[in-house]
Amino acid sequence: MLLQGKVAVVTGGTRGIGFAVVKKFLENGAKVALLGSRQETVDKALQKIKEEDANAEVVGYWPNLMNAGEVEEVFTKVKDMYGSLDILVNNAGVSARDSFYEYKPEDFEKVIDLNVNSVFICAQAAAKIMKEQGGGVILNTSSMVSIYGQPAGVGYPASKFAVNGLTKSLARELGKDQIRVNAVAPGVTRTDMVAALPEEMVKRLTATIPLGRVGEPEDVANAFVFLASDMASYVTGEILSVDGAAMT
Ligand code: NAD
Repeated sequence: MLLQGKVAVVTGGTRGIGFAVVKKFLENGAKVALLGSRQETVDKALQKIKEEDANAEVVGYWPNLMNAGEVEEVFTKVKDMYGSLDILVNNAGVSARDSFYEYKPEDFEKVIDLNVNSVFICAQAAAKIMKEQGGGVILNTSSMVSIYGQPAGVGYPASKFAVNGLTKSLARELGKDQIRVNAVAPGVTRTDMVAALPEEMVKRLTATIPLGRVGEPEDVANAFVFLASDMASYVTGEILSVDGAAMT
């Protein structure tokens, strides 16, 4: 029970890595607000959790993550209901694969909007609450492509380089308020994002991974549990790779 008594918000908590984080946090004693883009998917995720554990302390919301007012309103609701806001996991994200020659500026902007601007907005709303209560933990979701780049869809790696920048800089700025800021950088992980890739590409990617398999959402969620917990009390400004030592 590494997160007993802690209160967490997880964006993009309805499926994939975010859903695994929500479940691991609950298993470790946290109370969780899971956020999604639509009420329907949020309700479905809540129902799945409640079927496994009817007593799980979990709620769901669907604010527009690019709207500071809506985000602040939800975070305040969570704090008022559960008494604090100790952990924020910025996990919602979209990928891109467009060729640079055909890449539309508006599509580039869409990726930056969710993957970067929403991280800024959510981190700011959470940090204001955390500062007042004497501390907290902000965790971002980066990617292995934030280290190597990727040969298409430049908006995606660009957004994750920015996530690393936000993580390292906010760790420096918010340390004085006892707010730790870290990121997890997953490699190829078995979620809808990867299911959308051509089978041939997944095979090719797996062949280059020293651990010989793609990651499971739970592999990534375990890293979030560690970084959210007091086990990581002196860890801040880190980008923790969870990628089987992949180098693509
Ligand atoms: P996924 O597509 O399975 O889930 C994405 C989540 O983000 C969903 O819960 C969805 O509701 C939410 N979301 C999408 N658009 C949204 C919007 N406009 N507003 C609010 N929420 C929105 O993705 P995943 O594979 O679980 O990825 C989660 C995170 O991990 C992302 O930040 C992604 O970049 C990162 N990541 C994934 C992989 C991978 O291989 N799967 C690798 C590296 C990094």
